[in-house]
Amino acid sequence: MRRFEGRTVVVTGGNKGIGFAMAERFAAEGANLVLASVEAQVMEAAEALRAKGAQAAGVVCDVTDIAAVRALYDAAEARFGGVDVSIQNAGVITIAKVEDLTEAEWDKVMDVNTKGVFLCCQEAIRRMRKTGRGGRLINTASGQARDGFIYTPHYAASKMGVVGITQSLAKEVALDAITVNAICPGIIETEMWDYNDRVWGQMLGTYAPGELMAEWVRKIPMQRAGQGSDVAGLVAFLASEDAAYITGQTINVDGGLIMS
Ligand code: NDP
Repeated sequence: MRRFEGRTVVVTGGNKGIGFAMAERFAAEGANLVLASVEAQVMEAAEALRAKGAQAAGVVCDVTDIAAVRALYDAAEARFGGVDVSIQNAGVITIAKVEDLTEAEWDKVMDVNTKGVFLCCQEAIRRMRKTGRGGRLINTASGQARDGFIYTPHYAASKMGVVGITQSLAKEVALDAITVNAICPGIIETEMWDYNDRVWGQMLGTYAPGELMAEWVRKIPMQRAGQGSDVAGLVAFLASEDAAYITGQTINVDGGLIMS
């Protein structure tokens, strides 16, 4: 299927992990891609997509910086004439006991995961309203938007905030043919999860690398960790015409780990 031929998709945190898997999926379905991340590595990620025949650009952008966010969507307009799908996927996590969690950690996680999502939604909506073509916004929340895990109150708060942003904006832009939805990945094998496995493992007991993940995976009804491609499938659906009547929703993609 090439459902996104001629459409432009912005993916923040698009240089690796879940974001790059989304980008690969949209590229395979004919979209123009604009990938954003903090590190210059995003240029190589865009090059990897171009090497497979996709139209793709990389933009270095810190999603907490409003000027950088505007420049990101300016780049999408200059290169591809606008944005049809905007995926707010950039995210960070730290893990700390309550007395050890610093104000700086709190601010960083809230800034990237919550404010960053809002700033990108704001700018994408501004552009989508201007063209009048409608559009799709998809925000990456987390299983922690359903059920806060231990030692991560700031991350849980940031991801619950993503759900609030999603619902509020969905109501505001519904008559502009713009849908806004959130997704909640469970345990997805990426660099972020490697960190989680290592640090939570140390803090929750004497887990060797991989042991905590294996224990948590046993709790997943499907008995396997997710891959970026599992998340990409949901996101491609939400961005497609088939999802035109779905907005303000938060959908788990986690092998059945959380059923609420
Ligand atoms: P990774 O750590 O592999 O990737 C995180 C991405 O976010 C990177 O591209 C990184 O860019 C980017 N990023 C971080 N800070 C900023 C910033 N200030 N501005 C722009 N980009 C930034 O994580 P995942 O792929 O695992 O996670 C992707 C999303 O999915 C996150 O929102 C995460 O919270 C969420 N999630 C992940 C789960 C998992 O199990 N892996 C589970 C639930 C949710 P750079 O490399 O340049 O720093």
